[in-house]
Amino acid sequence: MGIKTSIIGLLGEHIEKSLSPFIHQHFIRYYSLNYHYYPFQIAVDDLREAILGVKALGIRGVNITIPFKERSMEFMDFIDPQSAKIGAINTVVSHNNRLYGYNTDRIGFKLPLVKDSRVELADKKAVVLGAGGAAKAVVFSLAEEGCSGISIFNRSLQNAQQIKKNFEALFPHCTIKVFSFHDKNMQKEINEADLIINTTPLGSWYYPEENPLPEYIKLPLKLFVYDLIYNPDRTPLLKKAEKNGNKTINGKAMLIYQAAESFYLWTDIRPDQKIMTHVLDEIAKKLYI
Ligand code: NDP
Repeated sequence: MGIKTSIIGLLGEHIEKSLSPFIHQHFIRYYSLNYHYYPFQIAVDDLREAILGVKALGIRGVNITIPFKERSMEFMDFIDPQSAKIGAINTVVSHNNRLYGYNTDRIGFKLPLVKDSRVELADKKAVVLGAGGAAKAVVFSLAEEGCSGISIFNRSLQNAQQIKKNFEALFPHCTIKVFSFHDKNMQKEINEADLIINTTPLGSWYYPEENPLPEYIKLPLKLFVYDLIYNPDRTPLLKKAEKNGNKTINGKAMLIYQAAESFYLWTDIRPDQKIMTHVLDEIAKKLYI
């Protein structure tokens, strides 16, 4: 590293297990760039100083993760219009002493579903579990791709209601219904849905035994099951779905696609399929040996 090294990195509260440094260092090495990706673990109260520090220190850009994706928007000089509509950013680019905010989770979520798994979303119905930062990008993407109905189940009904309020105005073709997490209508909504997406951390390394769906819920065979969690590889939800014969994907491809889009915003280089596949293989070795 030297004075000409461009610094990029990650701002988050608990980022010990984040794979972003691993992914971006692979991209950097593959393209022989004089960049370094650095994890900046910060306390909740230090967000303002940290973000303004990106500008002051001449850092090229950062990823933003839990719990800062929404709050960090207020410190941007410019927010990409689609990302402003989503209401959360995960990528900041610093250029000419100005900060630009973007949401690359939207594209990261969409590509594994639409491009890789060839799921057609027009006029489809989806159930979304959770109403946090990732859920906003998910609901936006689903509605943007033409879903006709989205049923959101969340622990705090208020957070789900906020998403409904924001997105129904933007996407009048899409009916958004909200429910609290263990509402008795869950089975009915799932029976009517074509896909279900888990955006809660239930089933992640932090809650490894937990399934966001109650035990009694049955999964119709036509239901496509997408869990945004990538560690572990197979959450209790995905294990149940696979055992039942449903098509499933986890969050690993989303992780790579959103990272690739952030990398492009910082470097103008869009990682090619070869390095993306290589990084996915390396992640598999890292997580599952
Ligand atoms: P947020 O903290 O913004 O939102 C978390 C959501 O999960 C909220 O709706 C929250 O409910 C709910 N939740 C949290 N804990 C519990 C619990 N114990 N019981 C029930 N509900 C709970 O996080 P994000 O949206 O940013 O991320 C959510 C998940 O998605 C994480 O596991 C993250 O790793 C994953 N993710 C994966 C990505 C990928 O690239 N694969 C990208 C982004 C996220 P409430 O509103 O009531 O607080």
